[in-house]
Amino acid sequence: MNDSNNKDKKYVALTFDDGPNLDITPLVLDKLEEHGVVASFFLIGKFINNDTKPILERQLQLGCEIENHSWNHNHMDKYSAQEITDEINRTNEIIRDMVEVTPQFFRPPYISLSPTMYEAIDLPFICGINCLDWDPTVSAKERAEIVLRDVKDGDIVLLHDLTGNKNTVDALDEIIKGLKEDGFTLVTVSKLFELTGVNPKVKNKIWTNTYS
Ligand SMILES: [Zn+2]
Repeated sequence: MNDSNNKDKKYVALTFDDGPNLDITPLVLDKLEEHGVVASFFLIGKFINNDTKPILERQLQLGCEIENHSWNHNHMDKYSAQEITDEINRTNEIIRDMVEVTPQFFRPPYISLSPTMYEAIDLPFICGINCLDWDPTVSAKERAEIVLRDVKDGDIVLLHDLTGNKNTVDALDEIIKGLKEDGFTLVTVSKLFELTGVNPKVKNKIWTNTYS
């Protein structure tokens, strides 16, 4: 266990991959706003444009964080160092152009990893506990039950604001209420590392929990 001043408190970071889009991302933001909580969004660069820019602005207004989930969302483990760098830089640049923030974390698409990726990408890699929420046969109720069953202090929870993924929107009331009832404070990924007193800049590592 950690030895910080915050050891009497439990923290968790909800994260959402594969946006931004015009159908699901706004509904996720509605839920976060309704419950007064924040999350981190790992964006796909090629989906960021003038149509989705207001979504990024709203994410920041709500205190959420915007992170990097590559430009094309391919399996990057077969990519060269140059291709990898292009994916990361292009995504960072459009986010900077649109909303003047720079991502501090990277989530590899499909959690595909390679030594070249670890070498080429100068951002901490983030994974997370998952509730199979990319699988349309997993109901909203099951998604919430899996998260609440598995979650522990310092966890990152991997969810998807993937287009069409209404079951995750419908799971959020139960997930957020359940986490609060279990004594968790919901924070962004960068805040999670800060509050748990952990430096995320560890080479060749992908994080699911800040304590392990
Ligand atoms: Zn993804």
